[in-house]
Amino acid sequence: MPTTLVWFRSDLRIEDHPALATAVRGGGTVVPVFIWSPQEEGDWPVGAASRWWLHRSLAALADALERRGSRLVIRRGPGLTALRALIRETGAVAVHWSRRYEPAVRERDRGIESALRADGVRVETHPGSLCYEPERVLNEQGRPFQVFTAYWRACLRLDEPAEPVPAPRRIPAPTCRLESLPIESLGLEPRVDWAGGLRAAWNPGERGAKQRLRDFLKSSLEDYAAQRDHPDHAGTSRLSPHLHFGELSARRIWHEVRARQAGGLRPEASSAADAYLRELGWREFAHYLLHHFPQTTNEPLKAQYLDFPWDENPEALEAWRRGRTGYPIVDAGMRELWSTGWMHNRVRMIVASFLVKHLLIDWRCGAAWFWDTLVDADLANNTLGWQWVAGCGADAAPYFRIFNPVLQGRRFDPQGNYVRRWVPELASFHDPHIHAPWEASPTELRAAGIRLGRDYPNPIVNHAEARQRALAALHGLRGGRRGA
Ligand SMILES: Cc1cc2nc3c(=O)[nH]c(=O)nc-3n(C[C@H](O)[C@H](O)[C@H](O)COP(=O)(O)OP(=O)(O)OC[C@H]3O[C@@H](n4cnc5c(N)ncnc54)[C@H](O)[C@@H]3O)c2cc1C
Repeated sequence: MPTTLVWFRSDLRIEDHPALATAVRGGGTVVPVFIWSPQEEGDWPVGAASRWWLHRSLAALADALERRGSRLVIRRGPGLTALRALIRETGAVAVHWSRRYEPAVRERDRGIESALRADGVRVETHPGSLCYEPERVLNEQGRPFQVFTAYWRACLRLDEPAEPVPAPRRIPAPTCRLESLPIESLGLEPRVDWAGGLRAAWNPGERGAKQRLRDFLKSSLEDYAAQRDHPDHAGTSRLSPHLHFGELSARRIWHEVRARQAGGLRPEASSAADAYLRELGWREFAHYLLHHFPQTTNEPLKAQYLDFPWDENPEALEAWRRGRTGYPIVDAGMRELWSTGWMHNRVRMIVASFLVKHLLIDWRCGAAWFWDTLVDADLANNTLGWQWVAGCGADAAPYFRIFNPVLQGRRFDPQGNYVRRWVPELASFHDPHIHAPWEASPTELRAAGIRLGRDYPNPIVNHAEARQRALAALHGLRGGRRGA
C-alpha cells in the first residue's frame, strides 16, 4: 500500500480539507504531519498570542485525527529536512499540502516542491484557505485589481466557490510507529502565564470554530449590517482566529450563509448576509494583494509614502501599546487586545489611525505590536488593515480622513459601555464625558472619583493640533518628491 504524507500548516481541520480528502481517496495509508519551523516564516515568525492559539489548535487536530484512526506526527523544521526524513521512514511516494500565500512561505514551498520532485516524490498542492484563488481574478488588461469594489464585483461574476468536501470517515494509518514530538515540547505556551483572558474568551480548534459559526448564524447574522460597527455589542462573528488557523474553511462559511439566504430570509436579513460575505471578500482581497504585491508586508504600496516623515516617539508608542493615551476609546481597544488577543474592527481602525495620524508613528510599529498580541494575527489582513488606515495601500482611506477618537467613540459606543468594560477607572462617568473626560467639570470629575493625570491619563496629544500636524505632513507628501 503506498503511503502519502499530508503536511498540515494553516489548515488545522479535517472537514473541507481537499489535501487530506485527496490523500485518503488515493487508497493507501496517510501520515498527517505538522512541522514547527518559525525560522522559515521570514520577518513574521508566529507571535506570542498566536503561539498560545496554535498549541491548542494542534491538540484539537491531533484529537480529531485520533478519532478517525490516525495520529498527528509533529516534527521540527526545516520543512524539507523533516519531510525527507519522514519520506525515508515511511517510504511515502507523495506529499499533499494546502497553499499558503505569505511571500517567504511561498518561496520556501517552491524550493521544497522542486527538491522533492527531484527526489522522485509526487507533490500536490491544493486550494484550501480562500474562495477565489488569486490568479483567477484579473482586470481587462490581465493585471491585478487594486480597488476592492472592482475586485469583488469580478469575484461575484465567477462561479460560486466550490462546495466543501466532507471529512474522511477513517484515515488509514501505517503500521510502523513514527516518532512524534509532544506539543508541549514546542514551547508555544507562555512561560509566565499571561493568557487567562485568552482562555476565557476562546475555544481554539475545529469544534470551537463550528460552534462559533452556528451561534453567529443563529443569533447575529440577520443584524450584522446594523450591528457590525458597534464594539459595545457582540454583533460580529469573531471567526477571524479560526479562519487564520484554517480551523474552518471560508468556503464552508460561504455556503452556510448562502443556505440561510436560500432558506428564505427577510430582505434586510438577506442583505445583512451579503454584507457579511463582503467582509469575507475583504479577507480574500487581502490575500490577493499579498499574492500580487508581496513587498507590501514591509513597504507601502504607494511609493510616495516611502518618504513619509515618521516620528520616533518611544514614550508615545508605549502609552499606545499599554492603553494609556488619555483617549478612552483608544485605550479601551488596546486593553481589549492585551486581555483577549482580539479587538473589534471599528476599534482597530480607530487605534491604528491614532497611532499613524495623531502620533505620526510608522504603521509598521503598529503592525508589529498587533502581530505579537492578536490571536488572529494574519499577514495578509494585518498588512491590508494598516496600509488602509495609513493611506498608503490599495484602496486606502483618503489621506485627509483622520478619525476623531471622541466622535468615533460617541457614534459607535454611544452609552460608553465598551469603554466602561475595558477602562474600569472611568466606569462611574456619565455618558457625555466618558469619551472626553477632560471636558468634564471639576465637580463632575469629583463625583466620578477621578483625578485626571492620577487615576486616568491626560490626553497625550491635543486632537486639533495633532490633526493639523498630520495634514501638514500628508500634504507635503502629496506635493511629493517621488511619483505615485
Ligand atoms: C489595523 C488593522 C489590522 C487588522 N489586522 C488583522 C489581522 O491581523 N487578522 C485578521 O484576521 N484581521 C485583521 N483585521 C481585519 C478585521 O479587523 C478583523 O478581521 C475582524 O475584526 C475580525 O473580527 P470578526 O471575525 O468578528 O469579523 P467579522 O465582521 O465577523 O467578519 C468575518 C470575517 O471576515 C474577515 N474580515 C472582516 N473584516 C475584514 C477586513 N477589514 N480585512 C480583512 N478581513 C476581514 C475576517 O476573516 C473575519 O473573521 C485588521 C483590521 C485593521 C483595521
